[in-house]
Amino acid sequence: MRICVYCASSDGADPIYKETAFRLGATLAEAGATVVYGGGGKGLMAAVADGALSKGGEVIGIIPRFMIEVEWQHPGLANLEIVEDMRERKHRLLTGSDAVIALPGGSGTLEELFEAITLKRLALYFNPIILLNTKNFYAPLHRFMQQTVDERFMNREHVDMWSLVDDVDDVLPRIRATPRWHEDARSFAGVR
Ligand code: AMP
Repeated sequence: MRICVYCASSDGADPIYKETAFRLGATLAEAGATVVYGGGGKGLMAAVADGALSKGGEVIGIIPRFMIEVEWQHPGLANLEIVEDMRERKHRLLTGSDAVIALPGGSGTLEELFEAITLKRLALYFNPIILLNTKNFYAPLHRFMQQTVDERFMNREHVDMWSLVDDVDDVLPRIRATPRWHEDARSFAGVR
């Protein structure tokens, strides 16, 4: 399995975020999954990579050239793919992934997450999108997305495009339990 992980370039306010990110990386590696992420050497990104590497896992970092120029990359990665810009990075992160996991993060994480959700809505991505809900971080976002349904900017089915899990141990079981997204998703992409 190739798992695309989106997460923060910062540690966050509470050490639990970093601990969780490390544990996720380790758990994915122990399950034999390849972690594909943004290649950063700081924050939760570094923690996910370090967790996976600590268990001998395969980690692929995909990073734009301008970030290499300011040395933002993780120094311990054997697999670092250098791309020209953020758009190519997002494309390469998602393409070929068997699932997406979003950890807490800022604008970068949210942008990546929303691209994946939007592509799923348009039947351009079909795999699970899991939000790791450490400290209930994603609960307000989940509620807000429910509001987009209530206000008829999305359909009821669309809230099934992603799901929240509270603990690292729930991530792989949730990925396995999530059915492939509807082949005919375009037929209900617009609001009815
Ligand atoms: P955020 O969730 O806002 O921290 O954004 C994560 C995204 O921003 C990722 O795509 C990162 O590669 C990028 N990013 C922003 N600042 C940094 C940094 N200092 N080091 C590495 N990546 C960064």
